[in-house]
Amino acid sequence: MKEFNGISASPGIAIGRVLLYLEDSMAVPKYTIEKISIEKEIKRYQEAIEKATADLTELKARLSREMEEENSRILDSHLLMLSDSMFTEQVYQRMKSEMVNIEAALKSVIEDLIDKLNASNDVYLKERSVDIYDVAKRVINHLMFRERVSLADISSEVIIVSQNLMPSDTLIMNKRMVKGIALDSGGRTSHTAILAKSFEIPAVLGLRELTKHINTNDLIIVDGHHGKVIINPDAETKNLYDKMLLDYHKRESELLNMNKLAAETRDGKLIKLNANIEIPEEVDSVLVHGADGIGLYRSEFLFMQGGSVPAEEEQFEAYKMVLEAMDGKPVTIRTLDVGGDKFIPSINSLAENNPLLGWRAIRFCIEHKDFFKIQLRALLRSSVFGNLKIMFPMISGVEELEKALAILEETKEELRSENIDFIEKIPVGIMIEVPSAAMTSDILAKKVDFFSIGTNDLIQYTIAVDRGNEKIAGLYEPFHPGVLRLIRMVIDNAHAQGLSVSMCGEMAGDIYSSVILLGLGLDVYSMSSISIPEIKRIIRSVSMTDAEELVGTIMSMKSFGDIDQYVKNWMEEKFDIIKY
Ligand code: PEP
Ligand code: MG
Repeated sequence: MKEFNGISASPGIAIGRVLLYLEDSMAVPKYTIEKISIEKEIKRYQEAIEKATADLTELKARLSREMEEENSRILDSHLLMLSDSMFTEQVYQRMKSEMVNIEAALKSVIEDLIDKLNASNDVYLKERSVDIYDVAKRVINHLMFRERVSLADISSEVIIVSQNLMPSDTLIMNKRMVKGIALDSGGRTSHTAILAKSFEIPAVLGLRELTKHINTNDLIIVDGHHGKVIINPDAETKNLYDKMLLDYHKRESELLNMNKLAAETRDGKLIKLNANIEIPEEVDSVLVHGADGIGLYRSEFLFMQGGSVPAEEEQFEAYKMVLEAMDGKPVTIRTLDVGGDKFIPSINSLAENNPLLGWRAIRFCIEHKDFFKIQLRALLRSSVFGNLKIMFPMISGVEELEKALAILEETKEELRSENIDFIEKIPVGIMIEVPSAAMTSDILAKKVDFFSIGTNDLIQYTIAVDRGNEKIAGLYEPFHPGVLRLIRMVIDNAHAQGLSVSMCGEMAGDIYSSVILLGLGLDVYSMSSISIPEIKRIIRSVSMTDAEELVGTIMSMKSFGDIDQYVKNWMEEKFDIIKY
């Protein structure tokens, strides 16, 4: 039995067998070859192409049987690439001119090709690079005898252990079969953590070297409450966790009984508790957990599914479905927030030195106006099917906001001229997640209908701590006085302008932050659906007077360590905070 400690990223306990999913990369050895080896290298390449072609043909047949026509068409283009004689000739030429092994030659040709595509301004042309990478990795895996497992194809219950999972991996995996996730890297607010929580999969991240100590089929316990994993537990530990798992499920169903009750403090202040979603299928869970609405629909995940940019019609259908399912309850859909760890090669495949400070979100959309307008058209058209609010991400100042609003207005004008219905006075808000936006929130508040504080990014940018980097996770501190002051400033500036303020970062679903946010005057909390019942329980058992008193005390403290300790004691004294 071995125990590892990491970061608790998604609650719950999972006990099961490991599927070790090691990174599938373009990393290949490069070595010089003699003239005499050329024929041998060509033969290896041809064999790898044959195997890759056989994989794809089999996969295509399966997708056709399952009526997945679009995905099956994507595979046609992959097959075509494999049989392209000009491409093959280029790889052979590269090998001969540089006298290197065939996988190194293939990699070098692929990188040149992808650079050319990336240099183009055409979003749809850039999409091709995803396919090219996919095909090349498949051939490289065969050349190097690496086994390739697709997370979408998992057909028995497993716990995934990996160095890292991209949000897109988490999105496509077979969620019914993945019972837990344990990763070497990642932080509590990385998007992989957020998705695991949304899909109610217990997860521990930031385990550093776990993958070096584990094998496929080992028995593992993932304890998402305490950020711990145990490999090959002894019988006593296993029994203890079996019991904890039962207690957890029992408590979850007890909390669900509060479904219909309002989140009202003991002295009568009514708070709205909304849910965050990434994909439309989560709406069932939103309703089961008693959310008042959807406070954040991260629309970029629609762009990650399927490997291609969704057309206006596809986007419209997704937004309409969510609005109709929510049946008049408010739904805030955030426009595309690509970039950072939400790397979507089909949209923005340019490698950046510093993607977190790079061409993200609204910055990218403003520069690609025609592309942005497709999403805005889909949103506006869907507005007649429910209670929609539109939200812009990553606004850093008033110029950016004015540009985004102008593009929205232009899109409205186009729809009017085409006689297409939409809600004229659709509420428009912004995320406050960049410190400069928080500092100018008094100015921004005059131009929008609502704010939603994105603490995941706001904390990252305020303290200069990458939210996904496990090595500095200890510095990522929501109770840093700098962060708390910014939150207070945003709420006060919004209220002075008569605006309501929501928070949709992970802090909104954190038990220990819940009373502080109340005392700071937050109006709406938005979080993963599973966190709603517990936050509701806390809000219902506290008064505004208590909350304001707590805030009064902590705002005069100097360090996050002092605040953390004080809040922890205060909360644990007042509430029965269950530690499994
Ligand atoms: C945030 O930054 O707090 C947020 C909600 O947006 P995301 O996590 O998608 O960056
Ligand atoms: Mg953000």
